[in-house]
Amino acid sequence: MLNVPSQSFPAPSSQQRAASGGRSKVPLKQGRSLMDWIRLTKSGKDLTGLKGRLIEVTEEELKRHNTKDDCWICIRGFVYNVSPYMEYHPGGEDELMRAAGSDGTDLFDQVHRWVNYESMLKECLVGRMAIKPTIPKGMLPKTQVTDTLTKEGPGSPSYDWFQTDSLVTLVIYTKQKDINLDSVIVDHQDDSFRAETIIKDYSYIIHIGLSHEIQEDFSVRVIENVGKIEIVLKKKENTSWKRLGHPLENHNSLIPKKDTGLNYRKCQLISKECVTHDTKLFCLMLPPSTHLQVPIGQHVYLKLTITGTEIVKPYTPVSDFLLSELKEPVLNNKYIYFLIKIYAAGLFTPELDHLQIGDFVSVSNPEGNFKISQFQELEDLFLLAAGTGFTPMVKILNYALTNIPSLRKVKLMFFNKTEDDIIWRSQLEKLAFKDKRFQVEFVLSAPTSEWNGKQGHISPGLLSEFLKRSLDRSKVLICICGPTPFTEQGIRLLQDLNFSKDEIHSFTA
Ligand code: FAD
Ligand code: NAP
Repeated sequence: MLNVPSQSFPAPSSQQRAASGGRSKVPLKQGRSLMDWIRLTKSGKDLTGLKGRLIEVTEEELKRHNTKDDCWICIRGFVYNVSPYMEYHPGGEDELMRAAGSDGTDLFDQVHRWVNYESMLKECLVGRMAIKPTIPKGMLPKTQVTDTLTKEGPGSPSYDWFQTDSLVTLVIYTKQKDINLDSVIVDHQDDSFRAETIIKDYSYIIHIGLSHEIQEDFSVRVIENVGKIEIVLKKKENTSWKRLGHPLENHNSLIPKKDTGLNYRKCQLISKECVTHDTKLFCLMLPPSTHLQVPIGQHVYLKLTITGTEIVKPYTPVSDFLLSELKEPVLNNKYIYFLIKIYAAGLFTPELDHLQIGDFVSVSNPEGNFKISQFQELEDLFLLAAGTGFTPMVKILNYALTNIPSLRKVKLMFFNKTEDDIIWRSQLEKLAFKDKRFQVEFVLSAPTSEWNGKQGHISPGLLSEFLKRSLDRSKVLICICGPTPFTEQGIRLLQDLNFSKDEIHSFTA
C-alpha cells in the first residue's frame, strides 16, 4: 500500500513501471511525486476535513468512509483520511482502496511495513479507533505470547543478571544453538537499555530503564554451543545495585519479528568516497552504545528528515574486503559501509549526498530473509547482479570464499549500462586473478564501440552458457539482485532452465 512514491522512478518509459507479478507500480501523474506530497502536507491545507480536530472513530464510522473521495483507513489503531493521498500512491488508487473503510494494518505490513506512514500521513490523521480493532501480537499479555510460541516458535528464552563492584553482566539464555554475534542488537540510550535477540522469526526483547548509570561502551559475548549471550556493562560508580531497573515496553517478551517495529539509532558519517561517476562508498559509525552487525544478505533502512518529513529507504551494507589491499583492515565492527548510487532526480540519495562528514543518519535494525544455511555443502555459487544489485553480493562473495570448504566455484555475472557504471571492476578482476575459484563476467546494455565483452540484457542464451555446474549434480545456489523487472525476469529464466526454488535466492524489499 503506502509505498514511498517517487517523481519518476523508474523513469516513465522504464520497464520497472510494469513489473509483472507481485506488486506493481503505476505511473504517477505529473506533480504527484513524494516531494509534491510533502509540499502539500506543509501547505497548511486541511487534509482531513476536520480542521485539525482529532476524533474517536467507531468501526461503523470507519466503514462509512469507503469511497475514493472519502476514504479512511486504520493502521495500528490510528485512522487516516487517505483521499488526498490517492493520486500520490505509487501502488495506485485501487491498491489503496483495498483497505478503504477498514483496518489496513495487515495489508500494509505485507507490502512495506518499513514505510514511515506516521510521518508521511500525519496531516491526514483523523484520530484513534474508539476500540482497538485488533491487538497486535506483540502487545499480548506475556502468558498468551508464550502459549502461542510453544506451539509455533522457539521455546521461551530467559535472562538473568549478576554484578561485581564495577560490572553488571546480563545473561540471555536463548536455548538455541545457531546464535551468534549477528543475532543480538543492543542499544543504550539515556537510561534505557534494549537488547533484541533474533531467534528464528522471533525477537526476544530485554528492555529496561536501568536503575543506575553505566558507561557508554559495553561488550557482548556469545557462547554459541549453549546459545548464551553475555552483555557486560560497566558501572559509572562502584556501588551495589539492588535491582537492574524497571521494565519498559515489551520487556522480557518473545514476539514475532515482524511485529517488533524498526528500531533506529543515529550513526555518524565518517567518510564518503567516489566509486564510479554516480556511486559512492559511505562509511557510517555506530554509536559506542550500540552493538549491531548486519548479517550477510540483509539490508537496513536509512532515515533522513527531508523538509520536515521522515523518509526511509532500504540499503544493503557491503564489507570492505575488496578494498583490503588499499585500506587498513578495519578491526572493529563499529563501521557500516554502503555503496549508494546518487540519482540526480531522486528524493533520498541527493539528500544523503549533501551530508557533511560528522552529520548523522538514522540506521534501522537489519531485515531480510537470506539464511547462511543456504550455503551448507554448497559447491557452485552463481551471482547475478545488475547495477547496485551488486551490493548484497559483496558480503556473500567474501563469506563464500572464506567459509565454505565444499565450494568449487563462484561466478559473478554483473550487468551494467556502460563500463563507467561498473562498481569495483579492478578489485573484482584482481580477486579473480588471485582466487581461481572466482570468475567475473561483465555484461553491458549500452556499451561504447570499444567494448569487446558481453552485451545486452539478461537472456536465456547468456544464462545457459554461464550457469554450468562444476559437476553433474553439484549443489548450486544462484543469487539474483537488481531492478525489480530484471530480478523477476531472471527468476523466470532460471525456472525455465530447470533450477528449483531452493536453488534460487532473489533479493527484494
Ligand atoms: P527515487 O526518488 O526513488 O527515484 C527518483 C529518481 O531516481 C527517478 O527520477 C530516476 O531518475 C532515478 N532512479 C532511481 N532509481 C533508478 C533506477 N533503478 N533506474 C533508473 N533511474 C532510477 N540502492 C543503492 O544505491 N545501494 C544499495 O545498497 C541499495 N540497497 C537496496 C536494498 C533493498 C532491499 C532495496 C529494495 C533497494 C535498495 N537500493 C539500494 C535502492 C534504494 O532503496 C533507493 O530506491 C534508491 O537509492 C533511490 O532512492 P531515491 O529516493 O534517491 O530515488
Ligand atoms: P541500472 O544501472 O539502471 O541497471 C543495471 C543494468 O540492469 C543495466 O544494464 C540495465 O539495462 C539493466 N536492466 C534494467 N532494467 C532491466 C530489465 N527490466 N530487464 C533487464 N535488464 C534491465 O540499475 P541501478 O540504477 O543501479 O538500479 C539497481 C536496482 O537494484 C535498483 O532498482 C535497486 O532498488 C535494486 N537493489 C535492490 C537490492 C535488494 O533488493 N536487496 C539491493 C540493491 C539494489 P538498461 O540499460 O536497459 O537500463
